Amino acid sequence: MEIVDLRSDTVTLPTPEMRQAMANADLGDDVYGEDPTVNRLQEVAADMLGKEAGLFVASGTMGNLAAALAHCQRGDEVILGKKSHTYLFEAGGISALGGVHSCQLPNQPDGTIALDDIRAAIRPDDDHCPVTRLVCLENTHNRCGGVSLSVEYTRSVGQLVHQHGLQLHLDGARIFNAAAAQDVSAKELAAPVDSVTFCLSKGLCAPVGSVLCGSKEFIARAHRIRKQLGGGMRQAGILAAAGLMALEQMTGRLSEDHARARRLAVGLAQIPGVILDPGTPYTNMVFLSLAEGVIALESDEDPAEMVAARLAEQGILVGVADRNRFRLVTHYWIHDRAVDRAVQAFAGILQPQPAG
Ligand SMILES: *Cc1c(COP(=O)(O)O)cnc(C)c1O
Repeated sequence: MEIVDLRSDTVTLPTPEMRQAMANADLGDDVYGEDPTVNRLQEVAADMLGKEAGLFVASGTMGNLAAALAHCQRGDEVILGKKSHTYLFEAGGISALGGVHSCQLPNQPDGTIALDDIRAAIRPDDDHCPVTRLVCLENTHNRCGGVSLSVEYTRSVGQLVHQHGLQLHLDGARIFNAAAAQDVSAKELAAPVDSVTFCLSKGLCAPVGSVLCGSKEFIARAHRIRKQLGGGMRQAGILAAAGLMALEQMTGRLSEDHARARRLAVGLAQIPGVILDPGTPYTNMVFLSLAEGVIALESDEDPAEMVAARLAEQGILVGVADRNRFRLVTHYWIHDRAVDRAVQAFAGILQPQPAG
């Protein structure tokens, strides 16, 4: 049985061409700065994001952490969204390892943080207060349904932040999805920010890694922090080779994943008892809930867990986002046929045909 894995775009395996490029990559010791493939990836990435320099890191989490530590001193404060990945899903690294205090503001349904909220949260020069140093945005916004932030919004936050002498970091794990959704370049989306991370290992299909981009001086600081964090990876060109292919071959095709997410949403919308989130899908994520009572429960099981288990029996893997809620993510390995199989499987479970 062919598995249709819609849990996340992190499950993407490298393509045969990527494996070939990895096998043939020119390598050196990257801690010495001597891995030509890593150096090339960092240059290409920085160029695509419109920054002076790039740093290859083990993960998006490491990229965001190294950025926060390079921008902030211990006791400084970072302003971020309550639904941000850095606040929710990075194991509290900025405070645990960096002593960086966080000020969490509400994310609006469109993934933004209201400018007035940011303005009001910036601390006065007062010995009672931590020093506000950094603001973080996320694009696309994972917990807000994969919605993308606009260039205009990012620019207005940049202006506010820089007027107050602060820095702006963008968690752009899926910035190329945001770029595809809005038909702008990642460079335009990142122009207002001082630093940006993006993941090679999600929709771009590389097996491992992220790149942190910013000014030369910032990246030099982040380079030392990466070493402190244990992220100096020696012959990392074997991974960077796949990352280069990801940038060259995958960034231009993400709108196909978005079209498949729409196909999935249109199919699921036909099934009684399925309630799509308003606006979904913005990019490559479809969020849906089950109407109350649509599925007969045997005990105190969560409806979503039960449906996910039944889907899994048919080779369809989905993300359970809540008691009644799912997240389905399209990616390179999900073709139209896989989308249609997923829709049929949902329909079969939610509208069982009477026997006979
Ligand atoms: C996946 C993700 C990260 C972290 O990436 P890892 O490589 O899994 O550590 C950071 N931010 C967002 C928005 C993400 O989706």
